[in-house]
Amino acid sequence: MSVFSHSAYDKHEQVAFFQDAKSGLKAIIAVHNTNLGPSLGGCRMWPYVDDGEALNDVLRLSRGMTYKSAMAGLRLGGGKSVIIGDPRQDKTPELLRAMGEFINTLSGRYITAEDSGTSVADMQVIGETTEYVSGLFAGSEYGGDPSPSTAYGVFVGLKAAAQHRWGKTDLSGLKVSIQGMGNVGFRLGKLLKEAGAELFVTDIFQDNIDRSVNELGAIAVTADEIFDLDVDLFAPCAMGAILNDDTIARLKVGAIAGAANNQLAEECHAAVLREKGILYAPDYVINAGGIIDVYYQQRGDYDAAEVRAHIEEIGNTMQEVFERADNTGETTAHVADRIAEERFGHHSVPSAENKSGTVAA
Ligand code: NAD
Repeated sequence: MSVFSHSAYDKHEQVAFFQDAKSGLKAIIAVHNTNLGPSLGGCRMWPYVDDGEALNDVLRLSRGMTYKSAMAGLRLGGGKSVIIGDPRQDKTPELLRAMGEFINTLSGRYITAEDSGTSVADMQVIGETTEYVSGLFAGSEYGGDPSPSTAYGVFVGLKAAAQHRWGKTDLSGLKVSIQGMGNVGFRLGKLLKEAGAELFVTDIFQDNIDRSVNELGAIAVTADEIFDLDVDLFAPCAMGAILNDDTIARLKVGAIAGAANNQLAEECHAAVLREKGILYAPDYVINAGGIIDVYYQQRGDYDAAEVRAHIEEIGNTMQEVFERADNTGETTAHVADRIAEERFGHHSVPSAENKSGTVAA
C-alpha cells in the first residue's frame, strides 16, 4: 500500500497511523493542509473492507475539508480521521478514549468532530482524553449537532441556485426532489416546505419516507425513480458519486443543490452537467454550514446569530461561483476549486504559526 504515490495523495502534510491492541482501535488521521489554520474534520467510523479503502477515504476527505473551509472563509485547514470498524459492533468507550489519545499525538494540528458512524455522544467520550474535539458544545444552537446548520446552509445555497437559474427569489411552487431524508435531508425538506416548495422524496428506510410524507406533505418515490422525475431541482442528501453517466442522462432538472459530499462520480461529470444546461452547486460550497457551526463551537464564543450570518454567506459565495463560471465558461466545480486554492495557497509552504490547535478568529 503506497502513501506518497497514492492516487488520492495531494501534498498532504501528514498521514498518521495508530493501533491500540487493548481497545482494538485502528485509525488513520490525515492532515491535508494547515496554511489557514489547524485542520478540522470529522471522525468517520466504517467497516472498511481493507486498509487501502480506509486510506483512500481519509486522503480524499481530508483534502475536501481544506477546500470546504477555505471556501467558507474559516481560519481552518483540512483534516479527517477514520476508524476501521463497524460502529454498531466495535464502538466502545475504551476505543473512543484511545482515539482521543491518538489525536493528542498531533498536538492540535488536527481537531476532530462527528461524522458518519460517530455522534455528539461519541465526541463527548473522545473529549475525556483530548481537548482537540469539537461538535459537542451543549450551548450551541443544536447541542453540538452540525446537521441543522448544514441543512440551513444548503437551503441558502439552493435559493442562490434558483435565483441564478430562474431569476426566482421566491421558492413557492418550485418542485424539488430530495434523495435521502436523514439528518440533513429532512431538515432541508422542512425549510423548503415552509418556503412553499413542492417536495418529492426518497430514502432506503420506510420510516424516513413516512415521516416526510406525514410531516412535510411530500410525495414519496422509489430510490430509483428519483432520477427520472419531471422536477425543477434535485437535492442529493444521501451518498456520494450519484452524479454519474447513468443518472445525469436521466435527470430532467434545471439545477442540482444538495448536501451530499463528493456528488460527482468523476471530475468530467461537472462538464457533462454544464453541457446539459444543469446548474450544479458545488457540494463542498453548499454543505459548509456544519463546519461553520463546528468552527464557532471550537472557538469557544458561540453566538447563534453570528453563526447564522456566517452560514448565510454561502449564498453570496455560491453567486460568485455561478457568475465566474458564466463569465469564463468553466464549470462551477472548477471555479470553486480555483477560488478555494487561491484562498489557501495550494502550493505554498505552511507557516509554523498556523499549526497549533487553537482556532483563531
Ligand atoms: P444521514 O445518514 O442522517 O442521512 C442519509 C440518508 O440517506 C439516510 O436516511 C439513508 O437512509 C438515506 N440513503 C442512503 N442511501 C440511499 C439511497 N441509495 N437512496 C435514497 N436514500 C438513501 O446523513 P446526513 O447527516 O443527513 O448527511 C447526508 C449527506 O450529507 C451525506 O453525504 C453527508 O456526508 C453529507 N453531509 C452531512 C453533513 C452534516 O452536518 N450531517 C455535513 C456535510 C455533508
